[in-house]
Amino acid sequence: MKPSHIEHIGIAVKNIDESIKYYQEVLGLECYNIEEVKDQKVKTAFFKVGDTKIELLESTDPEGPIGKFIEKKGEGIHHIAFAVKNIEDTLKHAEEKGVQLIDKTSRKGAEGLDIAFLHPKSTFGVLTELCENKNE
Ligand code: ZN
Repeated sequence: MKPSHIEHIGIAVKNIDESIKYYQEVLGLECYNIEEVKDQKVKTAFFKVGDTKIELLESTDPEGPIGKFIEKKGEGIHHIAFAVKNIEDTLKHAEEKGVQLIDKTSRKGAEGLDIAFLHPKSTFGVLTELCENKNE
């Protein structure tokens, strides 16, 4: 498993509209996509910074993963996503190495990517997402 780049950094925010303003007006980045991922109970907003994206995540349900995260830890970096070539093989490899998987197989995430998460207990505290763009 060798990721080609950091696909995105996921950031949990309380108010996506307010935080979009910061990324646009202070950092000068352009929000090119806003999308609700019902499955994950989040609204997402995306910005490109080189090959990497910033993914803002606002919870649409206090019981959803981002709602719970903010309640426990407050706003901030939620996960790092690595772009990989063959996500199923990468998951298998991680499991063989003793990493606890949140997703045993990939599922559809925002932007039509196939995604899967590794448990932060096995990744030194960083919730880690693997992403494969099968449309590429
Ligand atoms: Zn993500």
